Amino acid sequence: MNKDIATPIRTRAILEKYGFSFKKSLGQNFLIDTNILHRIVDFAELGDHSGTIEIGPGIGALTEQLARRSKKVVAFEIDQRLLPILADTLSPYENVKVIHKDILEADVQEVIEKEFTNTEDLMVVANLPYYVTTPIIMKLLEEQIPIRGIVCMLQKEVADRISAKPGTKEYGSLSIAVQYYTKAETVMIVPKTVFVPQPNVDSAVIRLTKREEPAVIVKDETFFFQVTRASFAQRRKTLLNNLTSQLPDGKQKKEEIISALNAAGIEPTRRGETLSVQEFGRLSDELLHYFQ
Ligand code: SAM
Repeated sequence: MNKDIATPIRTRAILEKYGFSFKKSLGQNFLIDTNILHRIVDFAELGDHSGTIEIGPGIGALTEQLARRSKKVVAFEIDQRLLPILADTLSPYENVKVIHKDILEADVQEVIEKEFTNTEDLMVVANLPYYVTTPIIMKLLEEQIPIRGIVCMLQKEVADRISAKPGTKEYGSLSIAVQYYTKAETVMIVPKTVFVPQPNVDSAVIRLTKREEPAVIVKDETFFFQVTRASFAQRRKTLLNNLTSQLPDGKQKKEEIISALNAAGIEPTRRGETLSVQEFGRLSDELLHYFQ
């Protein structure tokens, strides 16, 4: 087997060979611990017929482990300077394709149709650039691309918000947005020492498993998300106060909002953080009568 990329010595040698300097603005914190990488890949439960999409391969530390454990890997990298490095470090792996593109600009569906014709299952696995974790995750979920799930490293604070349960201080519109599409779990807390350079924040790995159906079936998805965001606008305010101040013409429609809350069986004095995804679903369907 080829020598692992993700050891401190090999990583340093690669960086020196190419005179590479890290760009903080691109969230470049590379993994230098193969044990952590093996565990990340284990959480993805890949098989011989799996395809994987990676976001931000860096110098290929995770890409290499994915290449060994899946049929094909497609990795999106924004930093042009990394392309010759990746061509070198990943040269032993014929099943890897690197695409030079900002993932937020990429037509992922088109890439999947073109590149994954021979695979039976598709996972996204990544050590995400921390400055854009939430937009990347939301893009992958909202575009409804045909993946089984996502296993990714991100800031522990964001991981806590994504996998939070109702009634906790971390629970908010991000928890609901992600849990609407997936079952979300924080599966590993990761020390700063396994990165070079070390990030300023703590890290964690989350596993998001796509649901066959959304967690709740609602009449109008866009309005459902509008209601959840409105409900958390000011965390210390009651639901009624947040909804009247945030929904369009909410102040004039206070009586209607109270009727909708009653019809959904939800006390107007409750706070958004106490409502389950299902309760938000019922509430948004009732509110929709007055806000169509
Ligand atoms: N996978 C490597 C590892 O684990 O060592 C590098 C991970 S590093 C945290 C994030 C990587 O994402 C960097 O290589 C960075 O250049 C890349 N990146 C940053 N923003 C990106 C974007 N919008 N689209 C694609 N790649 C991006």
